[in-house]
Amino acid sequence: MIKRFISYYKPKPIKKIFITDMICAFIMAVCDLFYPMITRNIINIYVPNQQFQLMVTWLVILGFLYILKVGLNYYITYYGHIMGVMMQSNMRRDIFEHLQDLPFVFFDENKTGTLTSRIINDLMEVSELAHHGPEDLFISLVMLVGSFIALSTINLPLALIVFSVVPFLVFLAMKLRIRMSDSFMETRETIGEVNATIENSISGIRVSKAFSNKDNEIEKFERNNVKFIKAREKAYKVMAEFHVSSSFIIDFLNILVLSAGGIFFFKGYINFGDFAAFILYIGNFLNPIRKLINFVEQYQSGVSGFKRFTEIMDKNVEYDEPDAKDIESVRGDIRFEDVSFSYDDNKEILKDITFNIEQGKTVAFVGPSGGGKTTLCHLIPRFYEVEEGSIYIDDTNIKDFTRKSLRKNIGIVQQDVFLFTGTIADNIQCGKFDSTEEEIQAAAKMANIHDFIMSLPEGYNTYVGERGVKLSGGQKQRISIARVFLKNPPILVLDEATSALDNATELLIQNSLEELSKGRTTVVVAHRLSTIKNADEIIVITDKGIIERGRHEDLISNNGIYAELYNSQFKNM
Ligand code: ADP
Ligand code: MG
Repeated sequence: MIKRFISYYKPKPIKKIFITDMICAFIMAVCDLFYPMITRNIINIYVPNQQFQLMVTWLVILGFLYILKVGLNYYITYYGHIMGVMMQSNMRRDIFEHLQDLPFVFFDENKTGTLTSRIINDLMEVSELAHHGPEDLFISLVMLVGSFIALSTINLPLALIVFSVVPFLVFLAMKLRIRMSDSFMETRETIGEVNATIENSISGIRVSKAFSNKDNEIEKFERNNVKFIKAREKAYKVMAEFHVSSSFIIDFLNILVLSAGGIFFFKGYINFGDFAAFILYIGNFLNPIRKLINFVEQYQSGVSGFKRFTEIMDKNVEYDEPDAKDIESVRGDIRFEDVSFSYDDNKEILKDITFNIEQGKTVAFVGPSGGGKTTLCHLIPRFYEVEEGSIYIDDTNIKDFTRKSLRKNIGIVQQDVFLFTGTIADNIQCGKFDSTEEEIQAAAKMANIHDFIMSLPEGYNTYVGERGVKLSGGQKQRISIARVFLKNPPILVLDEATSALDNATELLIQNSLEELSKGRTTVVVAHRLSTIKNADEIIVITDKGIIERGRHEDLISNNGIYAELYNSQFKNM
């Protein structure tokens, strides 16, 4: 993991900033070490010996060092943060790219909100560690080691006394600090819950208004809010303990130096200038110690953020077989051979499904809800992997195509339409990214949505708000149909494309869908009789597999489950 973390320092601009940053940090630490030394020389040597010139020279040098420090400090603060942001955006790009390639199974298991927070919050913490971590650690070590060397040359026994106590104090403070960050971590979980309630409640505001659920929603929110306050109270208690103890530790250090140094001074083991320098060096300590204490916390949250990042990065992506074919377009024959499928081991969803659709023909699937129709549709573009049996397109196993080329040949219209934030034109263009304006409009015309779009003040440039709330269900479905017209694939999968719509809208969209399926191999899951009636084959599936198949008239005269479904579901439509 460390190796992986370090790899993000490798890109050239980042490496350059990092090295410069470290050099700056080193020089800054050395500058700070000069101050006590010069003070000591002034008190011990220049003043008693009346060396005014020398004193001025050293003070000028000290002044220059401080001016130099201003520049270095500026560089570290400014470019250090920039470096952190650069690393963070590289990680974010990597994880985003990785997410694009993860299989459906991953998104079934992980919630959008959690993933978003990982991409945003976790990486923020990693970036903080990435740039403050090495710098703080380095400055602190240089300062502590430098101070120790300087102190030892001044007075070794006194240096040893002080340094035998310091590690304990630092250790104690670090422990307290970790306890504090742990309890703040807990509050972060509760704030997550508060956020989730707010988000959920706002997304569902139409439902809760419809049910006059205001009081209930407020109560639910208030419960989380109180939980959050409780968690915060606890965290602040720990925080107060930390602040009190750490400042006591520092005060204690002062007393220790004063008393040990005072005794040494009275005993004549140390002179006045050395004593003063000693006290100043101890003052110099405080900053690096503080930095070290902060570093523990930064390290903790940065590392756990990076761990969560690698967890996702280590999830297997959908990869194509090395000799997978990347074909431009297929003819469109589809064949299922003894396909069985289950999402998890304990329940088989599809059982021994075998059928054959010749190019341009239509096969309709009907069956009870939960019977596996959508699942079957999802197997064709390999949203999920078939474990038993095989699916062929044009006599080639779909596993021998690259996923990209396979999916390019399949157009899907589903019940739920997702519109991206953007314009109507953007949303249709999903079908084919290099399409021209004319192509987009032609597709919209075929989907019977062009006239509506033109009636909008901004036409194709109309922004569809988040999730396209400004459009009706039928309009959204037409946009999704236009996408497929634009894509123009030889194979079409229509999964209950109209079942969320009212009857009148459904009829209109049905015409577009019929138009769309002309000349294409079509797998259709529908509840409308007209589509099913004209299908070349109707297949009834349940979790027990295919239980009936044939043309409409034959199935009706068979008087089996299809006839039953037909009588209860389709007849009156
Ligand atoms: P249909 O479209 O015929 O109504 P589905 O194919 O959607 O049926 O679902 C078939 C069965 O598979 C159902 O029992 C459903 O709960 C289950 N199922 C659907 N999608 C998933 C999934 N992503 N993970 C696990 N189980 C699923
Ligand atoms: Mg379904």
